[in-house]
Formats: sequence, structure tokens, C-alpha cells
Amino acid sequence: MAELNHQPQTRMTQQRAVILEELRKLKTHPTADELYQIVRQRLPRISLGTVYRNLLFLTESGQITKLEIAGNTNRFDANMQPHQHVRCVCCGSVADIHSPVCEPAIDNIHVPGFARILKSRVEYDGLCDACAAALARQEKVAYYPDRA
Ligand SMILES: [Zn+2]
Ligand SMILES: [Zn+2]
Repeated sequence: MAELNHQPQTRMTQQRAVILEELRKLKTHPTADELYQIVRQRLPRISLGTVYRNLLFLTESGQITKLEIAGNTNRFDANMQPHQHVRCVCCGSVADIHSPVCEPAIDNIHVPGFARILKSRVEYDGLCDACAAALARQEKVAYYPDRA
């Protein structure tokens, strides 16, 4: 009886361990769906919902972070060192910035209607290599339509 009760919990833990392991291999800050596509190769019966719930659990227990970048709240990061991100304005891909600049000071900021400022965040908008190359191709096509 005790074993029967124990089983689902064990499965949860194993699934979570695989999810964490796969996320730690990636530098791409995957969405829950992208990670699901990877994890299901090892756990064919796992569902997207289970992956998502485990990601939220890992976030709440402080083992991973859920990115809070403009327009992108569904990406996850296993890199727990303080660092900043650049996001491609074209495709939304995200990369780490390894030489972070100082966050703006918040001590002297007073905003009517806000009791306190909690934190500031530095983030960068960029253009990834793939999008820059695609854009360059498009521009060539636009300038020289006969060469397309
Ligand atoms: Zn891009
Ligand atoms: Zn990161």
C-alpha cells in the first residue's frame, strides 16, 4: 500500500530530474514547448502540461528561473548566476550577456502612487545571426529583384 502511494511521487521526481538535466544542457533559454520536444525523446509518455508544471515547481523552489523579458515570459533558464540577457527583436531568441553592466540605482527614485521601487533590470534588444542573415538576404532581394 505504501509502495503504491509512493510510486507517482517517484515518477514525478524522476521526470523533474530529467527536465532539469536537459534544461541545464541548453544555453538557449527554451520555452516549455521547446523543452517538451527534447524531454519527450527520453520520456515518450510525458505531456506538455507535466513539463510546464515541473518547470513552475523548479522555478518556485529556486532551482531555475523563469525569464522576465519584455514579451517573453515563457522561457526558462537553469543558469542561476546573476546575468543579463539579449533578446532578438525578430525571432525572440535569448542569449546570456557575460559582462553585465551595473543595474541602475533605485534608492533615489520616487514615483507618485508607488510606495517603493523594488528592483531594476537591464535587458538588451538585438538581432541574432540567423535573423541578421535572413534580413540581409531580403534586402538583397528587395534591391535586386532580378537576382533573387
Ligand atoms: Zn533572431
Ligand atoms: Zn540566461
